[in-house]
Amino acid sequence: MTDYEEIVENEEAFRDSISTVNKEGKRIWIFPKKPKGGFYNKRKIVSYILLIILFGAPHVRINGEQSLLFNVIERKFVIFGKIFWPQDLYLFAIAMIIGVVFVILFTIIYGRLFCGWVCPQTIFMEMVFRRIEYWIDGDWTYQKQLREAPWTGKKIFKRVLKHSVFWSISFLIANTFLAYIIGSDELWKIQTEPLQEHVGGLIAIVIFTTIFYLVFSKLREQVCTTICPYGRLQGVLLDQNSMVVAYDHKRGEERAKFRKNEERKSVGKGDCIDCYQCVHVCPTGIDIRNGTQLECVNCTACIDACDHMMESVGLEKGLIRIVSEKSINDGTPFIWTGRVKAYTALLVVLIGVLVTLLLTRKDFEVSVYRQRGSTFQMSDSAVVSNIFEINLMNKTRKNYKIELTLEESTGTIDLVLDDLTLKSESLLKERFIVRLPLSEIEKGTKTLHIVVLGNGKEIQRVKTKFIGPLL
Ligand code: SF4
Ligand code: SF4
Repeated sequence: MTDYEEIVENEEAFRDSISTVNKEGKRIWIFPKKPKGGFYNKRKIVSYILLIILFGAPHVRINGEQSLLFNVIERKFVIFGKIFWPQDLYLFAIAMIIGVVFVILFTIIYGRLFCGWVCPQTIFMEMVFRRIEYWIDGDWTYQKQLREAPWTGKKIFKRVLKHSVFWSISFLIANTFLAYIIGSDELWKIQTEPLQEHVGGLIAIVIFTTIFYLVFSKLREQVCTTICPYGRLQGVLLDQNSMVVAYDHKRGEERAKFRKNEERKSVGKGDCIDCYQCVHVCPTGIDIRNGTQLECVNCTACIDACDHMMESVGLEKGLIRIVSEKSINDGTPFIWTGRVKAYTALLVVLIGVLVTLLLTRKDFEVSVYRQRGSTFQMSDSAVVSNIFEINLMNKTRKNYKIELTLEESTGTIDLVLDDLTLKSESLLKERFIVRLPLSEIEKGTKTLHIVVLGNGKEIQRVKTKFIGPLL
């Protein structure tokens, strides 16, 4: 057993508990040091772009529709301005399967990079609420001091200010969240019309504001370590080839304090100078040198901290980096395993299916069938008639004047009603009579193509069967 393996075995006990709970089961409050560095700067840019999209999307209109709407209450969904109905549920089912496979594949290859860089929980926590905390309370040491300090006027002022700002941002998030569910127009009504007309909406805003406030001011990293199912799943998704934020123990051990002008290798010391900067900046309170852990959200703050220390003492950067465990152990590059290939192939097929379904999805659904139980009728002038039923579904927000014509036939169509209007977002059922000259019918049937026109333009062409006498 190598020295490093011995250390790991002795220290394996850290896996029996999470870093934020003490032996008595009480919460250990984390005061992470304010991160800085190249990765942090890139994360800031990614976060601000994602925040602009998140807050802006409900207010952007495409074809007169909110760009993104997930109205689960009225079962109405809009994606990039296209309205989706419960009839399109299969598209959501496929999209969800693709989402799950994507997350699995992504995690196998890149670990929890999503958590640290894209997840709204981390973005709001680290890039919004935490930054406000640094601004009001100061960096981690000041925060600790303030927590221990007696309730002076200064402390009360800081606490009131911080929690008022937290509450205001939570209110903003709750409003945005509701804009995705009920729509920005409806939200605007709640915000501007008399309170008594929107009691339900106001209660929802207050409830969501409270939930967001508690999540970002109290729960914090506990969401990632104990609540989020994705975080819990990573243990089964990651393997030796997954790219994760990892400490290069081969290079770092034996860790020892830095001494000026010392040739570390010659005295058996590794590159880790045991400065604990990687631990101080960690928002989940772990020591990444213990190996990949449940709590790590791959935020890369420890990479920045360690790179800074390595530069300061004149050692090569990258002691902590994004790398697979296998690469560290064998010095081999990233490998595409059979499992990754299989997931990739499945993902490509599913995305192909989804894109095809989305591209071929129509704004109208039309079905035409002969009225149940009816047969043909024949007039003295050798004209045969059938009664049909048409079901029309309009998924758009426009009204359409409907006309029906026959393709490749000298027959006629008589509507029961003179004016057939298909209202926006609604279903229309109507009957009509088709009359054909007897000469057009062979062996008792004829295939018809009925052209459905909406406001003078063809919206669909439907195939159906006309019956007549067997001559
Ligand atoms: S160990 Fe590093 S990457 Fe993981 S959460 Fe802590 S600071 Fe972020
Ligand atoms: S920041 Fe780097 S050098 Fe310092 S303790 Fe962590 S791994 Fe070691």
